Amino acid sequence: MIKANVNRRLFLQLLAATALAPESRAAEGLRVVVAGAGIIGASIAWHLARAGASVTVIDRRGPASHASRASFAWINATWSKQPKSYHALNQAGVARWRLLQQELGVPIHWGGSLEGIADAGREREVAAHVVEQVAWGEQTKIVETAELAELEPKVDFTSLSQVIYSAHDGATNPIAATHAFLEAAKKIGAKVLYPCELQGVSLRGGRVTSVATNGGDLPADRLVLATGAAADAARRFADWDLPQRDSPGATAVTAPMPRFVNRVLWMPGVHLHQRDDGRIVLGEEDGPPPTHADRLAGHPNDFPTRDIALEHAHRMLVAAQRYVPDLKNVTFEDIVIGWRPMPVDGYPVLGASPARKDVYLAVMHSGVTLAPIIGELAAHEMTESALAEPFREFRPDRHFVASTGH
Ligand SMILES: Cc1cc2nc3c(=O)[nH]c(=O)nc-3n(C[C@H](O)[C@H](O)[C@H](O)COP(=O)(O)OP(=O)(O)OC[C@H]3O[C@@H](n4cnc5c(N)ncnc54)[C@H](O)[C@@H]3O)c2cc1C
Repeated sequence: MIKANVNRRLFLQLLAATALAPESRAAEGLRVVVAGAGIIGASIAWHLARAGASVTVIDRRGPASHASRASFAWINATWSKQPKSYHALNQAGVARWRLLQQELGVPIHWGGSLEGIADAGREREVAAHVVEQVAWGEQTKIVETAELAELEPKVDFTSLSQVIYSAHDGATNPIAATHAFLEAAKKIGAKVLYPCELQGVSLRGGRVTSVATNGGDLPADRLVLATGAAADAARRFADWDLPQRDSPGATAVTAPMPRFVNRVLWMPGVHLHQRDDGRIVLGEEDGPPPTHADRLAGHPNDFPTRDIALEHAHRMLVAAQRYVPDLKNVTFEDIVIGWRPMPVDGYPVLGASPARKDVYLAVMHSGVTLAPIIGELAAHEMTESALAEPFREFRPDRHFVASTGH
């Protein structure tokens, strides 16, 4: 464990040393339109504005209205984030949140996560994950029953064969976090326009000169496509096909409740965490069943009726009660369908379009964890014309190998 702590400290020092100086004005005069006011577009916009760019964020609906509204919002670099390069990017996201949280006023509940393993017989596999996590700088361990009772006195772990504790993790409110980036960006001159839909890109000599929106043209030297799961955006505006797959999920948020859990619980069949404001967030790994294909064809964010939404939320609640039996008398405030922005191989797509060098793509899952580091490095690439080494494996021109992992 000492080794993990040293690694962690060193890692944070390295991150701090490479941080962009807030007074850097490298991008003075650069006009950037960021399409998409989810957490990724919002973070990129703030980082660009800090570097001196003239930034306009547009969204066809509004801030945090799609994936960044529905997100479970677990901030983590756990074992499933493979390979090491992708894990390191997520680790940098977690570390950056710790640095930015206060400055931006983002509500993050730290405390780690507990992942429950139900199937006995996975002991060796789980032990190997833990060893790897520790070697990669995480404070991860398998927790014994007595300690579990101390960590989460109101949680029943008896149906599980093992529980993995990852101490560095946290969870946020993704809507509040998105607004925090946008408010900070506005304070230093960025404009945020919505509803405002990107409809076209004007080029001269292959360079972007303006973008067309349903509210008129906006002059621009660069366009950022932080359009999330919008499947056609890359083809229409970057002249390039981004291979994506559908990945729906449902999230339910309760009214404030007395404290039941202190950490993110990632349990078989359900996951939950409780925000500092007392609201419990429930999610499920698998999306809606295939029998709902018709209903989902238009990629809705809302259920057709409140009753259907409640059916889904109650299913998650029943699964959660297996682990938190006292979780009763629950009122749901928000029940939403989310579409994870999911390139077919599960990894972020970051960088200039292979067909239009002034159009920058930023599409990814795990965007809540990644937002701060993506914003910083993407802004750096655009303003300094420098390539960020941590993005090397996540370029749009890579060979995409389809995978079902996240
Ligand atoms: C159910 C679920 C659970 C998740 N859980 C986690 C988690 O625990 N941890 C984690 O790190 N990540 C999680 N994620 C992933 C994370 O939420 C996303 O990666 C992140 O929110 C993506 O943010 P974004 O800004 O790229 O996309 P979005 O939030 O979807 O924003 C894209 C925006 O682009 C706008 N747009 C699209 N086209 C146009 C256009 N032509 N003109 C103008 N605007 C346009 C849309 O209106 C939208 O607001 C989860 C996602 C889902 C759905």
